[in-house]
Amino acid sequence: MRQKIVAGNWKMNKTLEEAKILTAEVMGMVADEVKGNTSVVLCVPSPYLLPLKNQLGNSSVKIGAQNCSEHDWGAYTGEISALMLKSMEIPYVILGHSERRQYFGEDGKLLAKKIDKALAASLTPIFCCGEPLEIREAGTHEKLVKQQVEEALFHLSTDALKKIVIAYEPVWAIGTGKTATSQQAQDMHAVIRMHLASKYGEQVASEISILYGGSVKADNAQELFSCPDVDGGLVGGASLKSREFVDIVKGMK
Ligand code: PEP
Repeated sequence: MRQKIVAGNWKMNKTLEEAKILTAEVMGMVADEVKGNTSVVLCVPSPYLLPLKNQLGNSSVKIGAQNCSEHDWGAYTGEISALMLKSMEIPYVILGHSERRQYFGEDGKLLAKKIDKALAASLTPIFCCGEPLEIREAGTHEKLVKQQVEEALFHLSTDALKKIVIAYEPVWAIGTGKTATSQQAQDMHAVIRMHLASKYGEQVASEISILYGGSVKADNAQELFSCPDVDGGLVGGASLKSREFVDIVKGMK
């Protein structure tokens, strides 16, 4: 059975005090909502990783980073390596978010290296893919997303691939309030899964969790999460409000 995951992506938001309050609220409310096969992850700004991880303690809520370097150590001012995350026992890292691709020029080649570093450090990468609006309108979205998956993941062994979580996030739905319909999400998730199957076989593809991201809210989560190939969500804006985020987690039932 595939792992179900609801991950919050806080991006560059909150003071430390606000972050602690949000964490406490989520931790308090989510306890009864996390079912055996569902993981709840908070992907927080780098400086807050350790304090919030310590705050979470043995809670069922896990912590994640939003990026890591393609290098292990060295003269890379401002960067944070997968080995640093490992040394803090951070289990998850988002890689390839569209904002990283758009504002920091991250491409498939670079992301393949980052994926390797994350896996070598025993982190679980949440690998993001998704098409911009013009590509959706041109009707070439499936081709682009398959290419993104190929470039960053298809060099992996079967065992390595099994450790990846994929998040399909159509760029036109991120932070816009415009969610993909559940049919659009399901269709693309099925395309991604079939593409994985073409390289790794159906059994392996059926074991990979594929999350949907893009304006997930409490009032659309349940419908999106009920699609057969949607295994949870990567949630941006709505993860900054504890009640809304926990209501999204409830949509996982
Ligand atoms: C995201 O940034 O990963 C995201 C899905 O954002 P939002 O939920 O705000 O669209």
